[in-house]
Amino acid sequence: ELVPLRRALISVSDKTGLEDLGRALAERGVELLSTGGTAEALRKAGLKVTDVAEVTGFPEMMDGRVKTLHPNVHGGLLALRSNPDHQAALETHGIGAIDLLVVNLYPFEETVAKGADYAECVENIDIGGPAMIRAAAKNHAFVTVVVDTQDYGALLAELSTHDGATALGFRQLMARTAYARTAAYDAAVSGWMAAAHQDQTPYRRAFAGVLAQPLRYGENPHQQAAFYVDGSARPGVATAEQHQGKALSYNNINDTDAAFELVAEFDPADGPACAIIKHANPCGVARGATLAEAYGRAFDCDRTSAFGGIIALNQPLDAATAEAITGIFTEVVIAPGADPAARAIFAAKKNLRLLTTGGLPDPRATSLSFRQVSGGFLVQDKDNGHIGPEDLRVVTRRAPEPGELADLLFAWKVAKHVKSNAIVYVKDQATVGVGAGQMSRVDSSRIAARKAADMAEVLGLAESPAIGAVLASDAFFPFADGLMAAAEAGARAVIQPGGSMRDDEVIAAADKAGLAMVFTGMRHFRH
Ligand code: 5GP
Repeated sequence: ELVPLRRALISVSDKTGLEDLGRALAERGVELLSTGGTAEALRKAGLKVTDVAEVTGFPEMMDGRVKTLHPNVHGGLLALRSNPDHQAALETHGIGAIDLLVVNLYPFEETVAKGADYAECVENIDIGGPAMIRAAAKNHAFVTVVVDTQDYGALLAELSTHDGATALGFRQLMARTAYARTAAYDAAVSGWMAAAHQDQTPYRRAFAGVLAQPLRYGENPHQQAAFYVDGSARPGVATAEQHQGKALSYNNINDTDAAFELVAEFDPADGPACAIIKHANPCGVARGATLAEAYGRAFDCDRTSAFGGIIALNQPLDAATAEAITGIFTEVVIAPGADPAARAIFAAKKNLRLLTTGGLPDPRATSLSFRQVSGGFLVQDKDNGHIGPEDLRVVTRRAPEPGELADLLFAWKVAKHVKSNAIVYVKDQATVGVGAGQMSRVDSSRIAARKAADMAEVLGLAESPAIGAVLASDAFFPFADGLMAAAEAGARAVIQPGGSMRDDEVIAAADKAGLAMVFTGMRHFRH
């Protein structure tokens, strides 16, 4: 299964390492075929090259759209060396076999990333390159295909080991790399087109990311992991600039994303806000008159859990907030920016990572979210649902007072970012108890109330901050019990989607307890 290399076709947009590769191949007596720009570069290096135009009998035409799409090329790549009929066909038509294909594609992804217009992006969709790559990779029993400039060294090492030939194992490895590249390339085209035509319908587009960073490990140390980015310019963890601290881990990236997406719900025009995340759930979210106050109020919600947490801010980090944050150990701080005084304070904390994003993402923008299941992916629109005062339906005898209404809307925004079943207590624009991720709503309700009681104890408050607070539930109360638990804890107003078979029972219980309750008509499950 050793195949000696006699004839190579090289057609590359990225000419990195081309000269050295061409020279090493020429020194081994390999005949070089090339397309226009590549041939020119090789000739400049003093190498002997045959133009593909000579092989096809056609000039490169239509701005390079048609260069290598010809039986003299594809026959040479696809012919089975073991099949007498294929060999006869080569002979009859005067086609020379091609043993090595080196191609890297038109820089489509880079063209999109630099913000090129539609026509320029279209022109950078490579056609002949992927066709040749797929042909050579299909025929890996005999043909070697190299699609990445990083693999030139491995190719030359392989040729040294086998005296100018390649082994099947190497050709298989390169073929796998080749199909991964053409698949990712077409997925990039598909994703760009979906965005350009504003049609993200999952079954009409393909998905691929670009490897941004191999991670030290995954959710646990025995799991391998990597971070892929989709090329979107959305401010967030994928596009943030890291100013200090170790590289982000898998869990850091996940939690930082959760934190920043949550804090982005709070328009900076309405004042500073802070979210603190642990294990993808918020353990404190608050507004404040200043950013430092917002942080302090978020921290107060659950000081125990905030240790080693991830903090997101909706405004640039200032010195006072930086000073307050350094009071305990924090893994990551993400903010739209950071002023020099704040940066100086953080610089003394080597392990604290600071990320700045240049802005906040629009929580109402459309995008897709993915989840892996055994054997596939689930794809859906990102939950960009939004509820304003005009969307609320008051279902109890008592309507919420203005202060309660503001807190209900705050609690609803937070509940959207809490794992279901989510129950969130809020008082004066700050969470005071979060119940997350329970299998029954009544348990989440009890946990949220208990967290509020814990807060009173930690802060030395005279009574639980749940007394007089409002409460949000991410989905309807299936029974009155969860609501009763809230009333017993002292909640005064409730926001929830409504829509349960037992809504009447739940509303009656609310009226009996003197609660004000509003229905949103929208659910925010998050699993
Ligand atoms: P060069 O710089 O050598 O003129 O062009 C190299 C590029 O052309 C490579 O990226 C290769 O994938 C691409 N290419 C080769 N053949 C064809 C073809 O027939 N059509 C198109 N559109 N691109 C081709």
